[in-house]
Amino acid sequence: MREQSSGAGGQRRGGGRSYGRGGHGGPRGGQRAHGHGGPPRGRPGRADHGEHRPHGPRTGLAAELRTLEGAQYGRYKGLVGRWEMPGGETLELVRGQSDPYAPPARVAVHVPGPLAALPPELLTTATRRRALASYLVRQAARAVRGERALRVDAGGQEVLERSSCTVSGEDGSVTLRLGAALPGHGRRIDAREAERLLCRVLPGVVEQALRHPALDAAAVERFVETVEDSVALRDALAGRGLVGFVADGAVLPRRSGVDDRPAAGGGVVPFASPADLRVTIELPHAGPVTGMGVPEGVNLVVGGGFHGKSTLLRALETGIWDHVPGDGRELVVSRNETVKLRAEDGRRVERVDVHAFVDHLPDGSDTSDFSTENASGSTSQAASLCEAVEAGARVLLIDEDTAATNLMIRDARMQSLVAKDREPLTPLVDTIRSLHRDHGVSTVLVMGGSGDYLEVADRVVMMDAYRPSDVTERARAIAAVPTGRHAEAESFPGVVARVPDPASLDAEVRGRSRIRARGEDVLTFGDHEVDLRAVEQIADPRQVTGIGLALELMVRRGLLDGRRPLAEALDLLDEVLADGPTGPLLGIRDEDFAAPRRFETAAAVNRVRGLRMLR
Ligand code: ADP
Ligand code: MG
Repeated sequence: MREQSSGAGGQRRGGGRSYGRGGHGGPRGGQRAHGHGGPPRGRPGRADHGEHRPHGPRTGLAAELRTLEGAQYGRYKGLVGRWEMPGGETLELVRGQSDPYAPPARVAVHVPGPLAALPPELLTTATRRRALASYLVRQAARAVRGERALRVDAGGQEVLERSSCTVSGEDGSVTLRLGAALPGHGRRIDAREAERLLCRVLPGVVEQALRHPALDAAAVERFVETVEDSVALRDALAGRGLVGFVADGAVLPRRSGVDDRPAAGGGVVPFASPADLRVTIELPHAGPVTGMGVPEGVNLVVGGGFHGKSTLLRALETGIWDHVPGDGRELVVSRNETVKLRAEDGRRVERVDVHAFVDHLPDGSDTSDFSTENASGSTSQAASLCEAVEAGARVLLIDEDTAATNLMIRDARMQSLVAKDREPLTPLVDTIRSLHRDHGVSTVLVMGGSGDYLEVADRVVMMDAYRPSDVTERARAIAAVPTGRHAEAESFPGVVARVPDPASLDAEVRGRSRIRARGEDVLTFGDHEVDLRAVEQIADPRQVTGIGLALELMVRRGLLDGRRPLAEALDLLDEVLADGPTGPLLGIRDEDFAAPRRFETAAAVNRVRGLRMLR
């Protein structure tokens, strides 16, 4: 997989660098830390920048800084490159800062393996290294607390692969990447403060946070084991015919709508599985763990309002990620191919075959090739469902709170009042069984307000005062009494593969690539503002940056080439990122980002307003 090298992509970076795998063969982090961010000193016309650096790291950063006291701010750029620090670590100024108000400079601190002294057994798998890096970067963030100029991206409750810290599996070295607002007196360099930050504070961070001997070894181990158990649990689901698992004792409610830490206090009801759905799974560290297995098929969560239905669904939604010890959801997992859907009126839809759900619209448009700049609640949800299946989703999660009612249900009375030929919508209740039977796509629906799904559900779980019980038998008995409702469809016909036109996914604005995240909600990608508010499984604002970089990577490396269907391009993306997403995405740009899944990346593609799909 190579970019059509040294073409547009190469020129953009001011040279002939290849972003293909060949140029990135090394481990994440490690010796390659210097390879990112373009030419080391930004000199135009220099031919030998890139993979081969003529000189090793320079020495004497502190002395060099002192010579810059009071100099023009722009002279910080002369420091770009690698510096050997007295403690044995390397400090690299990856990208300078043109003026005091520009985005912070990028700094990488590389700690060689012997200095980091990480236990070799914690380095042996990608999962362990991800967990370890996550632990280290949290300690680093703690160590720089109060230093407003230094921005260490530590993340929240999820343990994501992030660019801010990586651990090499080859030599056990650690690379911390951070933003540093380089200090100035107005537009003059404040060298004394710069020296304090770079030559005293950062070495102190290494000393306190990035060396194993300085850490709480038991806490490190617990962190890594927690993540490893979570991964093992998720990996065990498919073999047991499950799509999700919620451990007994798990704490699902969060502190508030804006605080993702676990709810605390006497009112919290820990999860307790109903006997009929109880399974026990053996984990490498925790041993046998018991909880509710959510089976493949059509699952319904019912119960009165405020009884904990949505909270359960949200826990499954985020069960695609691993959680930190103490989160309460460490042992709540769902399959990697789980996608949460919701209605999203106003979104754009580009050439999706939604005819299974929407047909004979009043304006006569062809819904097997449906586009709109302004979807309704129901058409947006229908499109999102088809797009998720197109991208490879195997489990769909839907909550009545955020679903379009008319896409979900139409009861017998409404069927008699409104003739089918006047109603464009076919409710999901009529295709949901076929989705599983014919396409292997399971569902978990929260639906407290309509009994029509009782007929099509394989399992019905009732939440009552936050306690689940299996009411499948009772639901079957109730559903055996006919309501007079008739099915409006026999099956779900499948999805049509679409081919994105890469020319419509341009990250460049006036010759420079522009990728920016506004919280978890908006990705600025070139000229496009991509609204991601409805993409609810984005767990971290930095994942939005990751999505932007993944999109640019797909275009630059020709994964999207105007011939390849989106799903195949996503397969290739997964391959490129398989050895750890950090390396290839850092090759696009040195930024704080967290790795996204293919589904969030696809969701972003589908929401680019100028996107053109070929079919
Ligand atoms: P529903 O979807 O059934 O209407 P929610 O899941 O929105 O209910 O939960 C209603 C409230 O109960 C929320 O404030 C939520 O935080 C709280 N809650 C949910 N589960 C629990 C629990 N296990 N223990 C304590 N409070 C909970
Ligand atoms: Mg709810």
